[in-house]
Amino acid sequence: MQEIEISKIIRSKRRTIALVVTHDATLVIRSPLKTPLDYLKSLVNIKRDWIRTKMREMQRKPKPKDKEFINGESFLYLGESYKLKIVDDIVGDVELKDNLLLSQEKASCARDVVKKWYKSEAEKKIKERCEWYSRLTGYKPLSIKISNAKKRWGSSGYRGTVNYNWRLIMAPMEIIDYVVVHELVHLEQRDHSRLFWDKVKSIQPDFKRRRTWLKDNGRTLSI
Ligand SMILES: [Zn+2]
Repeated sequence: MQEIEISKIIRSKRRTIALVVTHDATLVIRSPLKTPLDYLKSLVNIKRDWIRTKMREMQRKPKPKDKEFINGESFLYLGESYKLKIVDDIVGDVELKDNLLLSQEKASCARDVVKKWYKSEAEKKIKERCEWYSRLTGYKPLSIKISNAKKRWGSSGYRGTVNYNWRLIMAPMEIIDYVVVHELVHLEQRDHSRLFWDKVKSIQPDFKRRRTWLKDNGRTLSI
């Protein structure tokens, strides 16, 4: 049988190894700094059936096309779909009303402008949710950042920073809340142990449903 290709190994000060099949069906390994490559390869071999199943699963999911930024095209914001309307009478570059309005002047650099708008919305909304859950749970990050990561919805650094992907602003609020809580709990419990999931569950009893939604629909959160 053909060997499974490891597309990337990300080494960091973590203690455990994680095999991740990404949205584009490639294998990424997160590993402690000193784990030998041979060991990682043997682990991939042991887990090959699981990896192949995951890869097939990812390949089956529909991949959204890149947006063209034309009138009438749909854009997501907090789980709702809005039609793009290119207009010449708005003050800023982008504005959300019944439609997603984009200034005619900016139509030539629409992708950058809309992305910037999403990011600033993510900055406001996600931070707000994070602060709210932080007060509720007592898990206090030192800082909250909005990231541009391609494949991760969130991460939690050793120095107490939590990062959230700006693309989450396209998801329903309850999905954002799941990622918010997930990373906050990581401040205290770094791995994905039973203890970790128990803590998540105590804050969000229905987290599994939200996690599944993100796995199934994560790919649609793109422009
Ligand atoms: Zn996690």
